[in-house]
Amino acid sequence: MTDISPATDLAHRLTEAVTAKRDDLIALTQDLIRIPTLNPPGENYRAICEYLEARLRGHGFDIQMIRAHGTPGDCTAYPRWNIIARREGPHAGDCVHFNSHTDVVDVGLGWTRDPFGGELDDGKIYGRGACDMKGGLAASIIAAEAFIEVMPDYHGAIEISGTADEESGGYGGVAYLAEQGFFNPERVQHVIIPEPLNKDRVCLGHRGGWWAEIETFGEIAHGSMPFLGDCAVRHMGAVIDTFERDLYPAMAARRTDMPVVPEGARSSTMNINSIHGGQAEQLAGSTALPSHCVPDSCRIVIDRRFLVEEPLDQVRAEVEGLLEGLKSDRPKFDYALRELNHVLPSMTDRDAPVASTVAAAIQNVLGQEAQFVASPGTYDQKHIDRIGKLKNCVAYGPGVLELAHKPDEWIGVDDMIDSAAVMAQSLAKLLLPNAD
Ligand SMILES: [Zn+2]
Repeated sequence: MTDISPATDLAHRLTEAVTAKRDDLIALTQDLIRIPTLNPPGENYRAICEYLEARLRGHGFDIQMIRAHGTPGDCTAYPRWNIIARREGPHAGDCVHFNSHTDVVDVGLGWTRDPFGGELDDGKIYGRGACDMKGGLAASIIAAEAFIEVMPDYHGAIEISGTADEESGGYGGVAYLAEQGFFNPERVQHVIIPEPLNKDRVCLGHRGGWWAEIETFGEIAHGSMPFLGDCAVRHMGAVIDTFERDLYPAMAARRTDMPVVPEGARSSTMNINSIHGGQAEQLAGSTALPSHCVPDSCRIVIDRRFLVEEPLDQVRAEVEGLLEGLKSDRPKFDYALRELNHVLPSMTDRDAPVASTVAAAIQNVLGQEAQFVASPGTYDQKHIDRIGKLKNCVAYGPGVLELAHKPDEWIGVDDMIDSAAVMAQSLAKLLLPNAD
């Protein structure tokens, strides 16, 4: 074969440009891990934004630093800083936006590596946030820089954002920026979120979530004469029993058309996050003995994840209906139901331009068909969809999802290179008029 088409040649040059930046990619990932952006409380957001500012300004990006004033957790000690870097090409066209969150979750126990050391060992870089998602952020930066180097004459614009607080709901990050109009479809046309969904998968969206506290009430009395009181914990036992008999089987029977992974999350699910009844738990180390009382209050927190086919009203009404049923059937049963938060499901069409483009680039770079998936838990796509009104958004990035939030979290250098090549080719398809 002597005939190489221009598109194949371009794909080749982009992959080569990415591969040539291997050492740079490693150093960039290590630098990002070494800035401990723990959330809570929301540390070092300004520092990581300044690091990204210096890096991206050096590659011709215009920078905006935006503090999410007044959002949850924002204060003088822990300001919620975000960065948006934009580089216009010489011709008009679409804007492709890479959005990464800069925060990482608590370190936790069980580490054998320095969680903020960025240690490179046998092709893996270790650290809190390596996989979720500083590796993805680094890969998107390398992809953009390689693309600009090879094709400086592109159409449209490239944006890279580093945003706060994804791990705590995104209110001081993407939600705030969306409210300010940064994800307006007039301004941005394609969004790729490099969350760790594996380099061969395009993630189209996520299930919804409904969090609520249920409290049952009783009457306090002496523990030796419980018949003189009313035990709120027993009432809660009846609630949980009803859930076991009526709610869990009903949820398990519902299946979504969303390609959620893992398979178990293709049904509705509910976790009971916590339960507490009666007196406060003893302080650690206390040797005092508790007094004897019938509990007059018991609370649970439920975490109900729902499918794109289930309206939120129905999710709420189902739980409420079971509680009302107990109220009419069970003597002295009384309850309160308080919603804590909710997130609606989000789902991009697999034929949407950004989804089909990334899938084609995966096929090109990895030589295998892309898998379309949806995420069991939520991420910042919800805000881009609901507040920004921008539907053309997917998550695509390197890293093994199951490693997120775990001890000895790592990101593979080869996986970052491959996904950066996929991102660079996606830029070519979206920002060059005749790329195919
Ligand atoms: Zn993440």
